[in-house]
Amino acid sequence: FGLMLFYIFKKYVYDILETFVAYDNLTKAYNRRYFLEYMKKEISRAERKNTEFSLIMFDIDHFKIINDTYGHSAGDEVLKTLINIVQKDLRKSDILSRIGGEEFTILLPDSKLKEAVNTAERARNTIEKYNFKDIGHITVSFGVTAYQEGDMVDDILKRADTALYLAKNGGRNRT
Ligand code: GH3
Ligand code: MG
Ligand code: MG
Repeated sequence: FGLMLFYIFKKYVYDILETFVAYDNLTKAYNRRYFLEYMKKEISRAERKNTEFSLIMFDIDHFKIINDTYGHSAGDEVLKTLINIVQKDLRKSDILSRIGGEEFTILLPDSKLKEAVNTAERARNTIEKYNFKDIGHITVSFGVTAYQEGDMVDDILKRADTALYLAKNGGRNRT
């Protein structure tokens, strides 16, 4: 019985630790470390089993102004709400992560570029229409890319980042 208690307790502690290292505290999305590990595994799977996956990267438009106008804690609320809205529309297998202050990714296993673009556009539309408490409307820009044979983590990140940069440069609130 003592041994059983020990294992239950051990599992309990491990579960807590796992939550601690995998999630971002503010938004409860996955954190950067978890995301990078997950993508490594996804690349291995793609190489071994010829699967595919896509990556969406997104960043809030003019978030600095939101912070400056309404305060940092109002900005934090926006981040939380935003992630809730985006998560609602995703598949169970999609991995939504916070990789920077106001920068996020969605890894879509077994998804082609076109499906990922559709997902990004759906999210963009939903956010654009949403009325944030005390703040009103905000917009987000998206970059999307798909895994290509031979890709390493940084290759995919760089392409997604370039795509996001193009969306920003093209006038924001676009994919
Ligand atoms: P752009 O449209 O080019 O993305 O403009 P931007 O203002 O969103 O981008 P910029 O990189 O200039 O500013 C990002 C801002 O995000 C500045 C920083 O204070 C804010 N920020 C980063 N992390 C957090 C956070 O955890 N909470 C809050 N409230 N603000 C954050
Ligand atoms: Mg940014
Ligand atoms: Mg921004």
